[in-house]
Amino acid sequence: MSCDISIVVPVYNEEKSIRLMYDRLLASISNISSNFEIIYVNDGSRDNSFLELVKLSKEDSRVKFINFSRNFGHQIAVTAGLDKSKGDAVVIIDGDLQDPPEVIPQMYAKHKEGFEVVYGQRLKRKGESFFKKITAKYFYRILKSITSVNIPVDTGDFRLIDRKIVNDLKNMPEQNKFLRGQIAWLGYRQTSVFFERDERKFGETGYPFSKMLKFALDGITGFSDVPLQFVTKTGIFISFISFLIILYAIFSHFVLEKTITGWTSLIISSMFIGGVQLISIGIIGEYISRINKNVQNRPLYIIDQTNIED
Ligand code: UDP
Ligand code: MG
Repeated sequence: MSCDISIVVPVYNEEKSIRLMYDRLLASISNISSNFEIIYVNDGSRDNSFLELVKLSKEDSRVKFINFSRNFGHQIAVTAGLDKSKGDAVVIIDGDLQDPPEVIPQMYAKHKEGFEVVYGQRLKRKGESFFKKITAKYFYRILKSITSVNIPVDTGDFRLIDRKIVNDLKNMPEQNKFLRGQIAWLGYRQTSVFFERDERKFGETGYPFSKMLKFALDGITGFSDVPLQFVTKTGIFISFISFLIILYAIFSHFVLEKTITGWTSLIISSMFIGGVQLISIGIIGEYISRINKNVQNRPLYIIDQTNIED
């Protein structure tokens, strides 16, 4: 049975936010429709998030939960929520109250005007580390410059998407999800509403540096071949310089009869080449590991428990 709106909320250790978030969501959506569902995807939380979700679902039948068998990561949690959603419009929103639910009616109004994608664009990010802000800022600008897909800057996954987009996403079976890129790739009519991103009130971020790095690499490898071209170009450039140095060395040895001596020149060149080669292999390795994952084609996630009927 379809409904007007599905709200998809990935949850990883958010026990303290869940109730508050639900109240604010309800207050906000009740302005637009009474025919909605809220799908919480519990991504292997180690706290009592799941108990909170089950409690909520007993009080309100519009509350659905999907309980993963372990932590699969934020993008996969959102994907599972989208897979199970039934709404004509679907809102993706974080479960830590950093994305204000009060913006949803504005998004919905834009959807009614005919936009298939309404993404939330951050005016300000409160209470986030300088490091996070600066890396995010430059990451999205670099990504924009090396891809042909127009991924909007300063946006996260907080957005409203049309059912058409959800169906199209299901036909993009990549294992390493980068939803904001995939949605941009799909096209359609896209617009934004502005909002101020709040600070996290409880708990701590589920995106430590290691996950941020993996996510960034998923974005780059999924949408750009520029790093591979960089390897080729660096190779050609270094070969060219090496050729000149070889000529010079031979000329110097046989004609000038002055052999270039010493440990210094050797160690510099071999270390330099060694470094460049390792970086190049690493770049190629990032692409290969993603090919490997896609060839294995394992299920994206394992559901332990859910109250959603197909
Ligand atoms: N999250 C998740 N799985 C994870 C990490 C995070 O489902 O492995 C959820 C988390 O509960 C939150 C959203 O994804 O609702 C965004 O994560 P977080 O707030 O930790 O990221 P940040 O806002 O710090 O970038
Ligand atoms: Mg957050």
